[in-house]
Amino acid sequence: MKKNEIYRAEVTGFTSEGLGVCRVDGCAVFVPNAAPDEEYELRITHVGKNAAHGKIEKILRRSPERINRRCPYAKQCGGCEFWHLTYEVETQIKKQRVLDALNRIGGQNLNDLPITPAPTCESYRNKALYPVAAGKKGLVAGFYKKGTHEVVPIDRCFILPECADRAVAAVLAWAKQAKVSAYDETTHTGLLRHIFVRHAEMTKQVMVCLVVTRDEIPKKELLLSLLQENVKGLASVAVNVNPRRGNAVLGDTTRIVWGKDAIEDVLCGLRFRISPRSFYQVNRTQAEKLYEKALEAADLHGTERVLDLYCGTGTITLCLAKRAKSVIGVELIEAAIQDAKKNARRNGIENARFFCADAGEAAKKLAQENELPDVIVVDPPRKGLSADVIEAIAQMSPTRVVYVSCDPATLARDLRLLEERGYQLKRAEALDLFPRCAHIETVCLLSRQ
Ligand code: SAH
Repeated sequence: MKKNEIYRAEVTGFTSEGLGVCRVDGCAVFVPNAAPDEEYELRITHVGKNAAHGKIEKILRRSPERINRRCPYAKQCGGCEFWHLTYEVETQIKKQRVLDALNRIGGQNLNDLPITPAPTCESYRNKALYPVAAGKKGLVAGFYKKGTHEVVPIDRCFILPECADRAVAAVLAWAKQAKVSAYDETTHTGLLRHIFVRHAEMTKQVMVCLVVTRDEIPKKELLLSLLQENVKGLASVAVNVNPRRGNAVLGDTTRIVWGKDAIEDVLCGLRFRISPRSFYQVNRTQAEKLYEKALEAADLHGTERVLDLYCGTGTITLCLAKRAKSVIGVELIEAAIQDAKKNARRNGIENARFFCADAGEAAKKLAQENELPDVIVVDPPRKGLSADVIEAIAQMSPTRVVYVSCDPATLARDLRLLEERGYQLKRAEALDLFPRCAHIETVCLLSRQ
């Protein structure tokens, strides 16, 4: 296979990033904007060691699932992958991805798996991080072009609520008048790096946080009045200072410039504080369903002791607390644990305790102290469980483990490791929290044999 040459190939599957997989001379070629069962003339754009990349030159066989993209930026913007497909086929691709991971990596033997699609593909995302760059006529904000750090300026992002776009427009108008410079990562100069917006769907509160290289807001009053004029529900304005090079968006210090130190949302009938650094599921409506599934799998009757590892602001923990004897939540980010404690108090929940610690270390310590939960819930980041968490779970030997996962591959790897320690997969279910994007959530119930 040669770069820039054209080959004929069919789509045989999809990668976890949502790229189509085609085969040329027995080698996998990853193709953006592909649809199931289509056939193409492909131009090879890159030949790597294990796989190649290509782009569609001509569609020789067109899928009836291919649609006109609603989002005009979709082809360039690296934010979403599936605007060119019907949502039905997108959920099928996601379901297949979870099935393949659980069977191939996890050693399971599943024929099918339930998937809960999202009720809407639009305006569902309550959090946005827009990178800022210098444009020809002032600063621009948008999202990175696929595979680059080049900003595609975006006026309206359909997966975000309109208040997010309005907040960005207000910040850019301020930047122009206040002569604020955009951060340039190649020269490591400039002030404004990202515009971070959060929206609480139920209370309609909005938080706008400017990520800057130094704690400096020129013409602050102008910024505040532009935001107040243009963003209904504005509840909090913050700055986060990130002086470092590298890809981490947020720095260590956050300061409230105006309004509240956190916004509040309602989830599963409980009220949650969300401060700038705390994790909060980006799709509230689907998160409620996700937590209901996790709760159902935990099967609590008011007598159980429960451990919730990777608890964030205590969202799952507090839902569990209502049906358990007691719950312990463990989380690495101190601000999230502070939120979790306040959330427990705010909701009148007295049987939940929270610890700020690494999940592995906390689990090991609890196991040594003979703290033996009946049920353990885990909801780790994409890299999955660390070896010491798996060890500690085996040592604590709960009756059930509920695994909430945002990465089917690491979930599958961990299921195999937990199976080796006597935990059998009883149920797996996928839920789509990220329509138009390649991510997918899975909830699994494992039982001790
Ligand atoms: N269950 C929560 C949060 C899930 S996201 C919810 O649904 O809202 C995963 C969380 O794990 C994040 O809050 C992250 O800060 C936390 N985390 C990441 N690494 C961790 C570690 N090593 N130990 C404990 N928590 C960790």
